[in-house]
Amino acid sequence: MIPAVLPTYNRAPLSFVEGSGSWLTEAGGARYLDMTAGIAVNALGHAHPALVAALTEQAGKLWHVSNLYRIPAQEALAERLVAESFADTVFFTNSGTEAAELAIKMARKYWYDKGQPERVTILTFEGAFHGRSTGAISAAPSEKMVKGFGPLLPGFRQLPWADPAAIEAAMDETVAAVMIEPVQGEGGIRPLPEDQLKALRALCDRTGTLLILDEVQCGMGRTGRLFAHEWAGVTPDIMMVAKGIGGGFPLGAVLATEDAARGMVAGTHGSTYGGNPLACAVGLRVTEIVSDPGFLDAVRRKAGRLNQGLAALVDAHPDVFEGFRGMGLMLGLKCREGVAAGDVVAAGYGAQLLTVPAADNVVRLLPPLNITDEEIDEALARLDRAATSVAAPSG
Ligand SMILES: *Cc1c(COP(=O)(O)O)cnc(C)c1O
Repeated sequence: MIPAVLPTYNRAPLSFVEGSGSWLTEAGGARYLDMTAGIAVNALGHAHPALVAALTEQAGKLWHVSNLYRIPAQEALAERLVAESFADTVFFTNSGTEAAELAIKMARKYWYDKGQPERVTILTFEGAFHGRSTGAISAAPSEKMVKGFGPLLPGFRQLPWADPAAIEAAMDETVAAVMIEPVQGEGGIRPLPEDQLKALRALCDRTGTLLILDEVQCGMGRTGRLFAHEWAGVTPDIMMVAKGIGGGFPLGAVLATEDAARGMVAGTHGSTYGGNPLACAVGLRVTEIVSDPGFLDAVRRKAGRLNQGLAALVDAHPDVFEGFRGMGLMLGLKCREGVAAGDVVAAGYGAQLLTVPAADNVVRLLPPLNITDEEIDEALARLDRAATSVAAPSG
């Protein structure tokens, strides 16, 4: 019999009733150290007092009004994001997928309005993940995501990852935009080398192509800068954000330059919930905290500590791990052939540690950005126990 909850997830037999900082607690009292943070969503951990206050304060006043009216919290959050980024304007969504949808629409409308309606193709990359809508799976059509869901939408061309020559060769008169994650998340924590992001920006400039960055996972302080592209010193035309920006409240956004957004006039796009008062009250507080230079400094310092610890962990378990990679607090342990990332994650559960697998046989570490040094050390100790039990299965 089909479960009451549509069984599209292979769920771990864990269920949490409470969270505090980097810790999640089961009904029986067992505490787990959370190095997943809702897959980069709980940027400030669980039940952060400032976010609880922002949410409850707003909840007592006004949850929702339609985008038919002005929403002060939405305007404040948009202004803050504009002040902190390349963007001139922001549209709020409820998820990363919806942000991807708008980014695609915006890029096509741009060329339509410029009198070049043939420029519709969006170049995307192997290993990419942009969400689960028909548009998003057409943009990143891995077999697992698209099988049985055809027909897919036309107008996307997927290129090999980190292959500048392939992008150069694919640039023809139909290309509207390039859409890319500066650090692939689901694809296995694969950072695009800085020089390649710079070269891509230059290529887009030369051909007029719009550069869309998907920072749904790597944005909002995750890499130690507010946005991952800042490391390369280049800016996109359009950017998708979600996950961390709501700190656990469903919120996403598309940020764009005035030029890229020129076609999105009244009536061209909308969302019932997107950017409602409750979401934006929380999002504003998250953004204020995460964009603080001192906070980002601390993320980079903690990332250094975790990096050092992971280097030692890999050295201690060469039979389990091949290496690690990533940026800031977005890290992946690459497992040896013959060792399944899923088995390491499951062994982590045994050590009361939460991690998440990714493609390319990688174990992802996406802790809350405000994780403490002691918790980092504790996570490393638990990873060590997990790796030991994978290397020598007790059966
Ligand atoms: C999670 C994710 C998405 C999709 O976001 P949802 O909120 O699940 O719709 C899109 N792009 C990237 C890079 C992601 O990590």
